Amino acid sequence: MKIRVATEEIRDRIMQNIYEAGSHLQEHELADELGVSRTPIRSALNTLHKEGLLNYFPKRGYFVREESPDEVLQAWTFRGGMEGLACKIIAGVEAEPSLEARLNECLAFGDHSLEPDDLTLENIVNYRKMNNDFHGTIVDASGNIFLIETMNRFKNIPVYVQLLEKYYSVEGASPNRLLPWLRRMHDDHHRIADAIICRQAQRAEALMIEHHYFASQYITQRMTRSESE
Ligand SMILES: [Zn+2]
Repeated sequence: MKIRVATEEIRDRIMQNIYEAGSHLQEHELADELGVSRTPIRSALNTLHKEGLLNYFPKRGYFVREESPDEVLQAWTFRGGMEGLACKIIAGVEAEPSLEARLNECLAFGDHSLEPDDLTLENIVNYRKMNNDFHGTIVDASGNIFLIETMNRFKNIPVYVQLLEKYYSVEGASPNRLLPWLRRMHDDHHRIADAIICRQAQRAEALMIEHHYFASQYITQRMTRSESE
């Protein structure tokens, strides 16, 4: 019980950037902070290391993992490839009318979320939910169980989740800093849906790959910018 609670607490703190990338996590300090003994802390750190959130160096201990721009590119290349394949599969056959309706619903909701020139955090939360639905709808509509299962697993890889959090984070700045990017990404959604409905399989696949490539460039730029700040 204590192990599970300690693991969840430390994981949350890493995800929320309370323990920043590169910081040294020491057993005795964590034990004091969480009010438990060092034994559950040791197990928790071991679990988080296996999940890929921590690096371990013998004699030095555990450090919060710092993602490299290369890993961002790898993650989004993988996602683009998988979802591009889903687009190709769907556009290759007659689409169910319910799919078109579902995609149009997502597009309209996204348009509405990004409409104000002064974005609120709520607009971003709504956009993000719509984005999950849009991409999830496409993956599910492929009907390929291996693709669906692989993407479900991928979405829960902690390092990927952490990168995604950074992507949407406004870091104390105005949510408007995300507006040009989100509008550009949502414009892609319109064109991806159009290609699927018009049964242009190659175009749909290429647009989806480009959509995620663009996202990887955006995240990488933000990472290098925050390093130099
Ligand atoms: Zn998207």
